[in-house]
Amino acid sequence: MDSYGLIGYPLGHSLSPQIHQRLFGLEGLDRPYSLLAFPPEELPGQIGRLRQLRGFNITIPYKQALFPYLAGLDGRAAFYHSVNTVSVQNGEMTGYNTDCIGFLRTMQSHNVRLDGSVCVVGAGGVGRMFALEAAREGAQVTVAVRAASRAKGEALAEEILQKCGVRAQVAASETLDAPFSLLINATPVGMFPQVDACPVSERQIAQCAVVFDCIYNPRETLLMRRAKMLGAQVVGGMDMLVWQAAIAHEIWHGSHFTPEQIDPITAEMEQLLAAREAQA
Ligand code: NAP
Repeated sequence: MDSYGLIGYPLGHSLSPQIHQRLFGLEGLDRPYSLLAFPPEELPGQIGRLRQLRGFNITIPYKQALFPYLAGLDGRAAFYHSVNTVSVQNGEMTGYNTDCIGFLRTMQSHNVRLDGSVCVVGAGGVGRMFALEAAREGAQVTVAVRAASRAKGEALAEEILQKCGVRAQVAASETLDAPFSLLINATPVGMFPQVDACPVSERQIAQCAVVFDCIYNPRETLLMRRAKMLGAQVVGGMDMLVWQAAIAHEIWHGSHFTPEQIDPITAEMEQLLAAREAQA
């Protein structure tokens, strides 16, 4: 029987097995999905076992480390030099990046357009991806970083210019004060257990039509609560977590999922996470 899994180290209390089991259920499949945690020095010895799987997902620290073992690379994975999903056929591994498509499908499912003025707060792994995807979609991009990290913001703006041919603004997140059609939080600010933190001021939030917080724990961050109160449309990070997993199934099996199928899984995973926290 075809087997699947998630590789990473450490893996902690990943929701991936539960999300993927729900997706297999929608496809009418009953397949094993395991957490495969091993330290980096064991990666070469694990490749034979990974080639036996039908597909697997990848998290830190293997998103680049797997490159030498891949027979092929999807366009987005090459563009970001980052692989989070592998499809295995006849022992040959092909790498994909479903984070970016998961982000785009999340925005589509909430009717959020990316071609307006988009501010991405944070210039780390996922912030870089949001900013580049928004630029590809025709947005006027602002990258907001802590004043002390301005060089990282400038480096991302330079990458956007090189890869997408558009000039992005760089701003300080502490003093951000401008209207945006979409503001995205791509920092861990507000994540459990620091739930009383918010990455931008209320004055800034009041100037945003839509706020997407990619944090999924807690389900509703302080940023999201404030944005809702101030009348913005709000989208949370669990949507993206589930969509990027769904895209992996679309790659593995040629399935296609609709928001009506994905939304109940998102709600279920949010409840599962809340129940886990209540027990902790
Ligand atoms: P990362 O590579 O470590 O980047 C984090 C970014 O946040 C950096 O730019 C960092 O800036 C900034 N930052 C950290 N603390 C800050 C603060 N107090 N004020 C302002 N900026 C701050 O992390 P990542 O992988 O991009 O992940 C970021 C968040 O996205 C995490 O919460 C993660 O859980 C979430 N995420 C969600 C999904 C999803 O599917 N929903 C997927 C991936 C990631 P400095 O350089 O100044 O430290």
